[in-house]
Amino acid sequence: MAEIPKARDFFESSSAALADHELRRKLESASARHLDHFAQVKAEFPPYDDERDAAHRIKTNAIAHLDELLIQLTSKLEERGCKVFFAEDAKQASDYIVALAKSKGAKNVVKGKSMTTEEIDLNDAFAKAGIDAIETDLGEYIVQLRGERPSHIITPAIHLSKEDIGQLFTEKFGIEYTAEPEKLTAEARSRLRAIFLAADFGVTGVNFAIAETATLIVVENEGNGRLSSTMPETFVAVMGIEKVIPRLEDVSHFLEILARTATGQKLTTYTSFITGPRREGDLDGPAEMHVVILDNGRSSMLADPVLREALNCIRCGACLNVCPIYRRIGGHAYGSVYPGPIGSIVSPNLFGSAAGYLPFASTLCGACKDICPVKIDIPRILLHLRWKESTGKHPLKWPRKIERARRGARRFAKTARFPRTIRALGKFAAMVLKPFAHNGYLRRMPGPFGNWTTYRDFPRPRPHKRPETERPPS
Ligand code: SF4
Repeated sequence: MAEIPKARDFFESSSAALADHELRRKLESASARHLDHFAQVKAEFPPYDDERDAAHRIKTNAIAHLDELLIQLTSKLEERGCKVFFAEDAKQASDYIVALAKSKGAKNVVKGKSMTTEEIDLNDAFAKAGIDAIETDLGEYIVQLRGERPSHIITPAIHLSKEDIGQLFTEKFGIEYTAEPEKLTAEARSRLRAIFLAADFGVTGVNFAIAETATLIVVENEGNGRLSSTMPETFVAVMGIEKVIPRLEDVSHFLEILARTATGQKLTTYTSFITGPRREGDLDGPAEMHVVILDNGRSSMLADPVLREALNCIRCGACLNVCPIYRRIGGHAYGSVYPGPIGSIVSPNLFGSAAGYLPFASTLCGACKDICPVKIDIPRILLHLRWKESTGKHPLKWPRKIERARRGARRFAKTARFPRTIRALGKFAAMVLKPFAHNGYLRRMPGPFGNWTTYRDFPRPRPHKRPETERPPS
């Protein structure tokens, strides 16, 4: 199971990330580029909101009938010659896949991009069994070379610049340093091509699984998913139970919104429709195909009437791009394979109470809800999780510094019930802080408020004017 740091570690890792100005610059520029592309393709596609409504409706309905759809999917997959394995948790899933690879005598494993295999820590399980598993998505390949985890669910190497990657390739491959993306991509491509040609075992994730036809849909941009699923003799598709949707005709609604919100494209370059192993007369495809369907805490999310909405997620990553917290601390600080707003919801359920502090890592600004292509009410679910956490049997132990801030917030909440007191305090603060202000902003706040201005300026408080409704008639 992927390791989740305790609250203190999260506090420390997020503080360290926040102080890394170069990391913040990379995250800001990459997220802003994603959002610009998204705004453009959305504006060019007027039916976007209708497609979003349709996707929300289909997903909500699918989650409500998950049991029936999974039974239908399983029986259709078996009809098509696939072997289906239901894994209750991450260990069962990775044990099954590694045992299968061993039984096939697999030596060269290739992996298409898949967050679910990150969730079950499949690379580590392969490594422990002495099997080399190579990530073949370019971003994943880069972070694997660095011995890191992805820092974004769509763009795993978002925290790196082309110069970082140039240095990495020089170190690992002994080639002359270059920061030209075309040359770096060509280098990775030629190395990966040789790996694909030697591969005897392939693993990918699944974006959508159609219950009606047993079609598994893999959406990607580099062809690594297609090669991982067709070149090796044994292919394993790994999916969470929530990936199933009822009909083939439903998928077009998701394809219209997924690429737009994920990468600002009209459609991804490769959309593979996989329907079982190689049949007689087929020119390519695996001789054997397995489908691992993973629960790992999803059933308990399903049982919670508020949380179950999070199972609608299609992992587009857009909520990360708009999140003011993610954009400042990046994915690694969360300590979970699923960072950002959706990660703060799913991680406590997939990885247990150690990730219980993540729902608090949000300003609840609502930008994630606005952009989510399947209209998940993320702030509402975060509040629900906070409530569950603070009323549970084992409330979190926060670092002292955070505990002090929480006590301060509670005191403020009490004071805020008295408008006159707040106005008087505002007047006092405006007067005391006036000499420290520069162009209407405070660069450094005095005393215990200094933490506010460590990473940003604070607007100078101004004397509060009483609202019209509270003023006596003249
Ligand atoms: S919660 Fe919504 S915006 Fe975030 S990754 Fe999932 S589908 Fe995308």
